[in-house]
Amino acid sequence: MTLASRNAVVTGSTSGIGLAIARALAKEGANVTINGFGKAEDIEKERAAIETEFGVKARYSPADMTKPDQIAGMIAEADKAFGSVDILVNNAGIQFVAPVEEFPVEKWDQIIAINMSAAFHAMRAAVPGMKARGWGRIISTASAHSKVASPFKSAYVTAKHGIAGLTKTVALETATHGVTVNCISPGYVWTPLVEAQIPDTMKARGLTREQVINDVLLEAQPTKQFVTPEEVAAFVVFLCSDAAKQITGANLSIDGGWTAE
Ligand code: NAD
Repeated sequence: MTLASRNAVVTGSTSGIGLAIARALAKEGANVTINGFGKAEDIEKERAAIETEFGVKARYSPADMTKPDQIAGMIAEADKAFGSVDILVNNAGIQFVAPVEEFPVEKWDQIIAINMSAAFHAMRAAVPGMKARGWGRIISTASAHSKVASPFKSAYVTAKHGIAGLTKTVALETATHGVTVNCISPGYVWTPLVEAQIPDTMKARGLTREQVINDVLLEAQPTKQFVTPEEVAAFVVFLCSDAAKQITGANLSIDGGWTAE
């Protein structure tokens, strides 16, 4: 139990990668605040399962990552409930696929807010406590799209490149305070986010569902396999360990070799 007595906030953790991260941190003994959207009864089931399976405290924040005041409130409430926010995982994210000239302006604003600015607002609120305690771990789920682009994903690629820059900057600001700040850049992970973009990609590229999976998604990944949420979660747990204390300001790939090409 490497993370016993640590308290974590994981944004966008009612589904996919975030849920796997929250569960993996709890398995290592951390109390967790989960966040995200979904049916109330499903969220409560996941929250309660974390408590019973791992013997930690788990709470839910409904904060909307497009709302700076709600993000600051989420950090303040987690701090009050558990006594600290030692681990912050900025993971909430959405996707939208369209050519730039047809890209809806409100989708651009929403993706920049959720996938990028939310991490700034959460870090801004969590860093003072981490600095004061001399220990902290901030990990953001970036993407292979923080390093390379794909067509039709202008907002997503912009936001993820922004996360990589924010990570480096805050890592430098916190480097002497026992706080590490990193981002993880997965390739394609089979989650609802990937499944949901298949119809739009079919439309944008004029392909069948199978062609999108094999010729667009897995085409990018030399291993020809999806990354699993659990593999990403294990990476986060490692970055939270003391063995990882010299890893900061890094943008770490877990992409089956995608960005090696
Ligand atoms: P997902 O759709 O399964 O989960 C997204 C989570 O974000 C959900 O819990 C959802 O409720 C939450 N969310 C969405 N809008 C929100 C808002 N306004 N406020 C609060 N929460 C909100 O997706 P996922 O694939 O698990 O993605 C998680 C992260 O991983 C994202 O940042 C995504 O960009 C990144 N990522 C995913 C992949 C992939 O292939 N799935 C690859 C690289 C990076």
